[in-house]
Amino acid sequence: MAAIPTCKCLIAGQWTDARAERAEDVFNPSTGEVIAKVPLCGEADVDRAAKAGLAAFDKWSETPAVERARVMFRYRDLLLKHTDEIAKIISREHGKTFGEARASMQRGIEMVEFACGLPSLLVGETIENLATNVDCETVRHPLGVVAGITPFNFPAMVPLWMYPPAIVCGNCFILKPSERVPLSAMRMGELLLESGLPEGVFSIVHGGKDCVNALLTHPDIRAISFVGSTNVAKHVYTTGTAHGKRVQANGGAKNHVIIMPDADMESVVEGLKHAAFGCAGERCMAGSLAVPVGNVADEVVKQLAVAAGKMRVGRTDTGATDIDMGPVITRQHMERVRGYVEVAEREKASIALDGRKVHVADAPNGFFVGPTIIDNVRPESPLVKDEIFGPVLSVARVNSLDEALALGKRCEFGNGAVIFTQSGRSAREFKHRFNAGMIGVNIGVPAPMAWFPFTGWNASFFGDLHIQGREGMMFYTQQKMVMTRWPAPPSAGKREPGWKPH
Ligand code: NAD
Repeated sequence: MAAIPTCKCLIAGQWTDARAERAEDVFNPSTGEVIAKVPLCGEADVDRAAKAGLAAFDKWSETPAVERARVMFRYRDLLLKHTDEIAKIISREHGKTFGEARASMQRGIEMVEFACGLPSLLVGETIENLATNVDCETVRHPLGVVAGITPFNFPAMVPLWMYPPAIVCGNCFILKPSERVPLSAMRMGELLLESGLPEGVFSIVHGGKDCVNALLTHPDIRAISFVGSTNVAKHVYTTGTAHGKRVQANGGAKNHVIIMPDADMESVVEGLKHAAFGCAGERCMAGSLAVPVGNVADEVVKQLAVAAGKMRVGRTDTGATDIDMGPVITRQHMERVRGYVEVAEREKASIALDGRKVHVADAPNGFFVGPTIIDNVRPESPLVKDEIFGPVLSVARVNSLDEALALGKRCEFGNGAVIFTQSGRSAREFKHRFNAGMIGVNIGVPAPMAWFPFTGWNASFFGDLHIQGREGMMFYTQQKMVMTRWPAPPSAGKREPGWKPH
């Protein structure tokens, strides 16, 4: 049997053993097998990475912005060349289908493309003659050493939301990938070094809670980007800011999908199937609560149950392209997700499709739950309120758009929300009034692409400046204001009337 490899940290341009004594298993969720060990780093490893970043910062921040961006042009080429290879790693360690893994790489590469063009966003502003002969300008400076902490559900894409823009802005970056899926991030780290990034500008440390806390409290780390569940996001925000850091922390979600009686049924069924069951429901923008309005409900549930029931659930570690849905991330998570079907049984909701019945013959130890639809859930049910983060779609029937909007107002989260309708009036009402930050009209998953911010609200986001787009660049830079006056020498006798030295 091949030995199980232990993940190395990337510090000062070298792959090195962690100082950590403890390690955790990384699983292949399709088979339940252990494929790697991930060290649980703490203060010692974080300090090594922060020192390496600090040592590299002066030179990197003085490197012209266009040269910093050129590293990203080379990185983009390498990521494109290695897309399939990295997609296979994602499928193996996370359980996305090959198609889903490739699509997530594409979204991540768009962030690199955004970072290639970042110098044009870094330009400052100037007013000449703000006061007599006084010019005023703003310029943007990098912060220093910054860190990113990422979740398991997009092993390549979410890290790419963070480090390409941070690095082109002139910062040094420490990535702490999810301990469940460290392998894709490490391969992408190798390619970043190959792109010619100087040593120390990008580091990787591993682990969970202790590693995160060491990052949040390290005096040399200036800012933290976080993506993960709401409770941890809250902890990261309060601890990071209490230690004087800038923090942007994306949290969990429960995204409502409102279906009006006039909606185009084919788009609804396709959109909902993709939104609820794509990536096995493990997406912060998954549509997890369908809210059909009026008499459209029976037809939506009936047609969706047929379409979702035909989805092929199977192992994703073989590179197979003929499956529609892979496993969820761990055995515990599979049990938690299945537990919600038991909640439905206890609450006497109607189970229109039961994912517990799915068996994958060639992977009996994999962490599988099939597409599940639970109809007639009550507004106060955990099926409406909790983020299940699996392939479970709850259906809460309502009688009007107003009732659907009121249900949205009671939601703790505020990541995304969608309406399917052919009425401009309903769409306008929804987009103006719904209590969430990312809105879709006849689009199942309104996740913004690199050029737009990821604008979660409420318990889906803690901070001021969101990830991606111009706000992402603003997060990774600080402004300096410069006032200038160049008086003519007194000997030239050209001082303007009333000139006084301030
Ligand atoms: P998680 O919160 O368990 O873990 C996220 C990160 O936090 C990991 O790197 C982990 O090591 C660390 N962590 C875990 N527990 C910690 C603790 N007690 N103290 C300090 N650090 C800790 O999230 P997950 O299960 O990996 O990912 C799924 C969650 O991420 C879902 O809630 C999903 O909605 C959310 N998510 C949000 C977005 C978004 O943009 N809003 C995007 C993707 C995922």
